[in-house]
Amino acid sequence: MRDSPDLTEITPSAGIERHHHGWRAKCLQRLIRLELPVPRSFAIPASTVAGIASGRRIPLPELRALFSQDNRLVSVRPSAVMPEWGGPRTVLNVGINDDTHTAMSKSIGGANADAIYLDFVQSYAINIARLDPDMFTQDGPGALAQALHLYHDQMDEPFPQDPGTQLAEVLRSMSRAWDGPTARLLRQAKGAPADAPLGLVVQDMAPALGPGLCGSGTIQFIDPVSGAPRITGRFRRQSQGATAGQDVETFYLVKDDRGSSLEDVAPELFGDLVAYGTATRARLREEMQIEFVINNGNISIIDATRVQRSSRANVRVAVAMARNKIITTAEAVMRVEPRALADLLHHQVDPGAPRHVIARGINASPGAATGKIVFTTTDAQAAAARDEACILIRRETSPEDIRGMHAAVAVLTERGGTSSHAAVIARGLGKPCIVGATGINIDLRHRRVKFGSEVLEEGDEITVDGTSGEVLAGRVTLLGPALDDSFNQLLDWADQESDIVVRANADTPEDARMAQTFKAQGIGLCRTEHMFFDANRLPAMREMIFADTPDDRRLALERILPMQRQDFRELFEIMAGLPVTIRLFDPPLHEFLPHDREGIRELAESLDLPLSDVTRRVDALSEFNPMLGMRGVRLGITVPEIYDMQARAIFEAAIDAAARTGQPIVPEIMIPLVSAVREVEIVKNRIDAVAAEVRNVHRIDFDYRLGVMVETPRATLRAGEIAEHLSFLSFGTNDLTQMTYGLSRDDAGRFMGIYVGQGVYSEDPFHILDQDGVGELVLTGVQRARQTNPQIILSVCGEHGGNPESIAFCHAAGVDYVSCSPFRVPVARLAAAQATI
Ligand code: PEP
Ligand code: MG
Repeated sequence: MRDSPDLTEITPSAGIERHHHGWRAKCLQRLIRLELPVPRSFAIPASTVAGIASGRRIPLPELRALFSQDNRLVSVRPSAVMPEWGGPRTVLNVGINDDTHTAMSKSIGGANADAIYLDFVQSYAINIARLDPDMFTQDGPGALAQALHLYHDQMDEPFPQDPGTQLAEVLRSMSRAWDGPTARLLRQAKGAPADAPLGLVVQDMAPALGPGLCGSGTIQFIDPVSGAPRITGRFRRQSQGATAGQDVETFYLVKDDRGSSLEDVAPELFGDLVAYGTATRARLREEMQIEFVINNGNISIIDATRVQRSSRANVRVAVAMARNKIITTAEAVMRVEPRALADLLHHQVDPGAPRHVIARGINASPGAATGKIVFTTTDAQAAAARDEACILIRRETSPEDIRGMHAAVAVLTERGGTSSHAAVIARGLGKPCIVGATGINIDLRHRRVKFGSEVLEEGDEITVDGTSGEVLAGRVTLLGPALDDSFNQLLDWADQESDIVVRANADTPEDARMAQTFKAQGIGLCRTEHMFFDANRLPAMREMIFADTPDDRRLALERILPMQRQDFRELFEIMAGLPVTIRLFDPPLHEFLPHDREGIRELAESLDLPLSDVTRRVDALSEFNPMLGMRGVRLGITVPEIYDMQARAIFEAAIDAAARTGQPIVPEIMIPLVSAVREVEIVKNRIDAVAAEVRNVHRIDFDYRLGVMVETPRATLRAGEIAEHLSFLSFGTNDLTQMTYGLSRDDAGRFMGIYVGQGVYSEDPFHILDQDGVGELVLTGVQRARQTNPQIILSVCGEHGGNPESIAFCHAAGVDYVSCSPFRVPVARLAAAQATI
């Protein structure tokens, strides 16, 4: 038959386009170009399908012409632009009628012909004539006659015998199904636009039933979970797939002890299939699952789809293809979704495992872990000492819980958003974490927690799936991390492509080692305050806070100095010459004080002070809005001895580490929460003075770099004058988001779900950088800083530094590096490369 605008025969030279005819039509054309035995196929373009959905009809003679003398039946398959957008169910055996049924009874046997005809009549009656499905459940002898009779009875006309009419109705039904609200929602969830087009493919049926070796099957060449080369699939004898022939004989493909295989019974056909697989992989540049039919010794390839695979399999396949020179290394880098790498870094819930979800929250840190419920840091530490995995459940966490978070295998909080304390710390530790699980109710007094209607006690086991944000009852099968050769190779290729550097936010030697493991190019943010919560340091810190005079304060700080020096020296040594940015003390002092009566009493005892004095001091330090209060550089200006001590510890550590490693070390010191240039001048003068003194005492010269965290809106606007004094600026987009929106990062989790759900915000701005608002401030800051100081190094070190979309924005903004939690470094390296390519 001749092509028409509505129907194009798929040949090697036909003008088949993915955006017009869909991926399946395009894929079939590629298979045909490879000279694979594909049955005659026609593509119906999306414009025609849309027309059919709104009432237009392809002329019947054109449709009738698709049925030839030797091939009287066809299948119709959906062909959307992307395979994952799905489509209406494939319809097989269109065109069957009483005549073909009689002819087929002779060629393939009465039972087979009956089964095929019955299957078509039933699906036509239900899906096209929209008759009650309960009426069309017949099976066995007599079922076909009964189904035809019922159809006639219900429709007041016999079952359509004209193949053209049948096909027209099937096309109409599939076109309309694509427009239905459910299909629309399903595909939109997969990223399809609301008006995504649908093409259709009409293909001659390859007979899978009949004399000799007949049947259908699928073959694929990788293991879908690991990505390792392995042939898997099935061949079903005398079967067209799921639709006809119930009790079919099933064969393995490759020789197998458990039963017969296609390789045993038909080695040449098996060899042909393997050869087709090799050709498809090389030319389609993808691991495909091939659907085939064997008819009396002849193979037909009826379809091929990309093998559905796990994240780790996808990495392995991309790397293998690039190593085989089928794709370039840059293409391999582009083929892996950065976020999917997180699945390889942590334990994951086995996708096949049963899940009993008892609560949902924000997926704040990926990975999965099972443990016994505990409610306090002390209990978490006790469980860890007994070698028992535990999950710390808190309303929200505070710095005092860090030790508990260390001891637990996962963290669950009732409150908080993506940059709340629990979320930031858990990501840093690489532990699964769910925050803002509003459906849970903690009863600390009775040591139990309600998950909706289920009540669990301390010690009961749950699983936290931080990847999905779901809390599961009991123990669930987990898959281990996969930091294998493919993973490392892919990221090395990514680094070669990338022109934006990735550093890590690391506060402890452990973090720094993790940063090295993941090949971060330095530390972009060391939050020094985390070093003070250690049980050995807290008393000295509290003594410092309670000191009445600068001299007393200095004495207390002198006890802390050697500890800080040791911290920094370890970081410098572990990072082995890579840059290390140390941020001076940031949080409000009251975070280091106890908040309950018991704690205050203990503190009074240890400081040998009257309870009333301690209570008064704790009260005096408390603030209505601590996040906007006495913290960051404000503390540096009002209690300058703290920064003096830290600067000294940094310089002495750098001298020490340089002497040990033989490499010069240029520490980078960063001032937090700046909003006025004068703050920088004051702090800079003091740090310069400390540097001069250290040089003098140690009789060693050294350099250091000074920078500022740009995390208040005013600092972005005044970035020009601030930059003049400095070597670098780092945008702290957590605080910057908080202050730009006027939105507390610790409380936003409570209503973020509703806000995003109603489209007030398109995303949680603490998770994905708000390009329109916060992004504009970042761009302004970048431009003004570069204007006055073209040499200045610019970076982003908020949580957004590990988010792929935000990294693309940072790259476009011309930022030199991003810095994120060590466990997000691999994701960031891949995203940075993809932003560059
Ligand atoms: C920030 O505000 O973006 C930042 C990195 O600092 P912190 O999260 O410690 O406030
Ligand atoms: Mg900050």
